Amino acid sequence: MKPFTYERAGSPAAAARAAAGNPGARFIAGGTNLLDLMKLQIEAPAHLIDVNGLALTAIEPTVEGGLRIGALVRNTDLAADARVRRDYGLLSRALLAGASGQLRNKATTAGNLLQRTRCPYFYDTNQPCNKRRPGSGCAALQGFSRQLAVIGGSDACIATHPSDMAVALRALDAVVETVRPDGAARRIPLAELYRAPGDTPHRETMLEPGELITAVTLPPPVGGAQIYRKVRDRASYAFALVSVAAIVQRDGTAQVALGGVAPRPWRVEAAEPALRRGAGAAAAAILAGATPTHENAFKLTLVERTLHQVLAEARS
Ligand SMILES: Cc1cc2nc3c(=O)[nH]c(=O)nc-3n(C[C@H](O)[C@H](O)[C@H](O)COP(=O)(O)OP(=O)(O)OC[C@H]3O[C@@H](n4cnc5c(N)ncnc54)[C@H](O)[C@@H]3O)c2cc1C
Ligand code: SF4
Repeated sequence: MKPFTYERAGSPAAAARAAAGNPGARFIAGGTNLLDLMKLQIEAPAHLIDVNGLALTAIEPTVEGGLRIGALVRNTDLAADARVRRDYGLLSRALLAGASGQLRNKATTAGNLLQRTRCPYFYDTNQPCNKRRPGSGCAALQGFSRQLAVIGGSDACIATHPSDMAVALRALDAVVETVRPDGAARRIPLAELYRAPGDTPHRETMLEPGELITAVTLPPPVGGAQIYRKVRDRASYAFALVSVAAIVQRDGTAQVALGGVAPRPWRVEAAEPALRRGAGAAAAAILAGATPTHENAFKLTLVERTLHQVLAEARS
């Protein structure tokens, strides 16, 4: 591990200011992703800004009738919250499908959204990786790509985003709240948080340098059958090959986001009416334009079958 300096932030604005003033700085929350990356020297921040002391741990009702989740709410606490379990069951299920109990006890709402990809070549510092070292190439394009994206990638990167929680939040139309280094707050719909990789896959989000996530807000509950189905190589402690986050209403209308298939939670609102015609039509519409590799083309079928199962469960 490379040497680094450390400070505890006194307020969200001070944290953002400190980060913007030091290009080598990173925020640290639960540390469950960042510390692993530092040990492997994939990330080597010169300065850590510990945000754990900030008052961002509340889950509170909003005036609109939704819920505001502080950036430091631990994944365990969010999944167990009675209001989340009752009104946003999808979110609770997605969280519980991720990582392990110990990790969820540490992992935070913001850290989960900003965790880095699990592409094997991103972790192998002997291999070219445009995301880790811009301009070095992408070993995955001609390599093992079974886990990687079938849609939304680029010639520079086909990594997937690994978060389960983000997939549920995308289906729920969540909004991310931030504070910028100048102290101004802004709201970013989750739909707009993640950048497409293009030819700069190391730039992963729309956040500005130093911008701190302070909360995630959920709109008022929409009811419906809420299902999170994660398909993976083993029953627990594994990232999704494919996941489906679905809210299905009695009249057949549905909101669906996919995980494990794209560099960001994948939702195509314009394709959602096709869900009334069944899983085959919906999967074709949601994944129109997919460019799988020979190793991960199976994900197209897997999405359709998982969607089929989810819709059947919702109807029952
Ligand atoms: C073995 C293992 C298995 C896992 N399995 C799964 C899984 O199946 N599904 C899943 O979804 N996840 C999984 N995870 C990932 C885990 O959920 C994440 O590591 C965790 O959610 C990250 O949260 P954290 O608070 O520890 O983030 P940190 O490691 O502290 O930070 C992660 C990133 O977020 C940034 N950051 C943190 N807080 C803020 C903020 N407030 N504003 C701006 N930037 C911020 C940090 O600078 C850093 O870049 C797994 C992790 C491990 C180690
Ligand atoms: S897919 Fe992305 S993360 Fe993986 S090696 Fe290529 S550039 Fe790196």
